Amino acid sequence: MSYLSKYKEKLLFLPIGGSGEIGMNLNLYGCDGKWVMVDCGMMFADDYTPGVDLILPDPSFVEEEQEDLVGILLTHGHEDHIGAVPYLWERFKCPLYATPFTAELVMGKLREAGIADEVTLHIVEAKKAFDIGPFKATYIPLAHSTAEGHGIALETSKGTVFHTGDWKLDQGPIIGPECPSSALAALGDKGVLALVGDSTNVFNEHSSGSEADVQANLIKLVKDMNKRVVITTFASNVARLETIGAVAKATGRSLALMGRSMQRILAAGRATGYLKNLPTLVDEAYIDDIPKDKILIACTGCQGEPRAAIARIARGEHKAISLAEGDTVIFSSKIIPGNELTLGALFNALVEKKVNVVTEKDAFVHVSGHPGRADLRQMFEWVKPQSVIPVHGERRHLERHAAFAREVGIKKTIVPQNGDVIEISDKGLRRIDTVPTGRLARDGSETVPINDINIAERRRASLSGFITVSLVFDGKDKLAAEPLLAIMGVPRGKDDVFYDELLEAVEEAVERMSIKSRRTDFDVEEVSRIAVRRCCRKLVGKNPGVATLITRRRDMEL
Ligand SMILES: [Zn+2]
Ligand SMILES: [Zn+2]
Repeated sequence: MSYLSKYKEKLLFLPIGGSGEIGMNLNLYGCDGKWVMVDCGMMFADDYTPGVDLILPDPSFVEEEQEDLVGILLTHGHEDHIGAVPYLWERFKCPLYATPFTAELVMGKLREAGIADEVTLHIVEAKKAFDIGPFKATYIPLAHSTAEGHGIALETSKGTVFHTGDWKLDQGPIIGPECPSSALAALGDKGVLALVGDSTNVFNEHSSGSEADVQANLIKLVKDMNKRVVITTFASNVARLETIGAVAKATGRSLALMGRSMQRILAAGRATGYLKNLPTLVDEAYIDDIPKDKILIACTGCQGEPRAAIARIARGEHKAISLAEGDTVIFSSKIIPGNELTLGALFNALVEKKVNVVTEKDAFVHVSGHPGRADLRQMFEWVKPQSVIPVHGERRHLERHAAFAREVGIKKTIVPQNGDVIEISDKGLRRIDTVPTGRLARDGSETVPINDINIAERRRASLSGFITVSLVFDGKDKLAAEPLLAIMGVPRGKDDVFYDELLEAVEEAVERMSIKSRRTDFDVEEVSRIAVRRCCRKLVGKNPGVATLITRRRDMEL
């Protein structure tokens, strides 16, 4: 029996990812027996999962509900909103919806994953309502740090919900329409049961600021520079790329865009009507032929990613360009919490070359793509929601967002956690159930649970090393030879002593076992593991992973 059959008369909101974390947004709305998904994103892994790049929301619940899932509405093209599509779509097999620029990015991902032919991707026209199962959806354009940010008004038989997506207010957004206050106010006039919205920047009491102001300030800054200037930013920030183009024009510099992701966004942008005003672009091979004060270089790596262009330039490993005394690197981006150490090392490497480093802390070179509290207040005034559900944030962001909504008079709020099934009605918000959620890791070309044994083993090995023991038993279950040990990543003290003592410890422990238990592989592995660990703790203070290989030579008797 489908999950929704017991909730036929209700409008439900169910976050699977993105409530309690910034990243991997995946939300479901349920009504009249059908689900619609809003966004299907991923997040980047941290040191807890060594060797894993991407984390995805666990879609098991949705997979079971596949028959009732009418489609996936993608709000915009950031990885935390579309990044999981190529890995999870096989489990949903439903149509996708996106506006042209986002669709272009999604299509690129589907092609790379080899599933472009299987997926139906509908191109949506903003501001035009369309039916998707029992829902009526309207994409409402909002400014954000990439092209085509959208909120989605979702009309249902039980009332309307406004899912804001990622947004900000910007009177000079450089690309896209200015904030459609009239569309939002009209939505509010018709009545909105709940606003489900972006909490990322709730700790900023002001408005998030305008891209046009960043542009003016960058032009002023670069005008005073007479050597080489590099600006790093997120490639997906299309308005910022337009800004960088304007800076090049205003300061009489040619422009070079470096890095694969810059080229990808350039192609997607141009295919859908953006980035048409950039000055003629210089191929990176010719950068050195241009006087230093006549070139502006835009590149990736604003978070210190080691393989990105700016990190390679800082290490002196970039083929096309090098930086020298008096050159400047402007980090036109937010320093994302958690990246401070990596970025600090990158700043140091540049400063060592006597290159000037300018970040958002030194000058006005960046504005956020998410709403400060002044923007939230304005949005609430336009949309006049009866209730507010904060999403897209860690717990502290969500709690602050809910508290702010109450401060400005919206009394009905709830702070959701992934897996909470929330009923939305004109009586308010009510948590009526919880479904299982979790995280998956993209490990090599496999998608595995985050607590997969392989990842746990790798974590242990990366912290404490790993020792493999090989034991050979003869036909009478006695050791037929000295054990062999392969030691990886364990401090060895005086090598011979360490190896010999470990070997002796294993040998003694096995010989103390009864003949009967020596016949059981599991028992032998346990005894070997305990002996190795105890010995390692005593000798070098480490607790490594241990594997034991057992060979039984029935033909042998010594
Ligand atoms: Zn975004
Ligand atoms: Zn986002």
